[in-house]
Amino acid sequence: MLENSNFGFYFDSNKCQECGGKCCTGESGYIFVSPKEIQEIAEFLSIDFDTFCQNYVKKVGYRYSLLEIAQGNKIYSCIFFKDGICQIYPKRPKQCITFPFWDCYKDNIEELLKECIGVVKK
Ligand code: SF4
Ligand code: SF4
Repeated sequence: MLENSNFGFYFDSNKCQECGGKCCTGESGYIFVSPKEIQEIAEFLSIDFDTFCQNYVKKVGYRYSLLEIAQGNKIYSCIFFKDGICQIYPKRPKQCITFPFWDCYKDNIEELLKECIGVVKK
């Protein structure tokens, strides 16, 4: 169980296999990546920075987000979510690494409980 003293829940990452990556699919959203993360993911995939940006990234204001793929019925998945797993898991962005310990869930545990089976209330 992972714990963060600022949050009113624990997180059991062992549940991710059973869940099948629900946090990588769903309503359209943003999967923000920094230029440093883009560089690291590109290297992990053995492609250059520009090719990676052209194929996997969109600009959102002054930031960058990984692309999503429409699955129908207003469901989208991250472009790197394939065969039920993250294809860039060792280099996934900080946004993914820190889930579900996001500030927006500090006072909204009930909503998070609906989204993530790995979350256990303290
Ligand atoms: S929704 Fe929760 S349990 Fe499911 S893959 Fe994401 S972090 Fe793991
Ligand atoms: S980068 Fe990996 S962990 Fe993050 S949303 Fe995409 S598939 Fe999921």
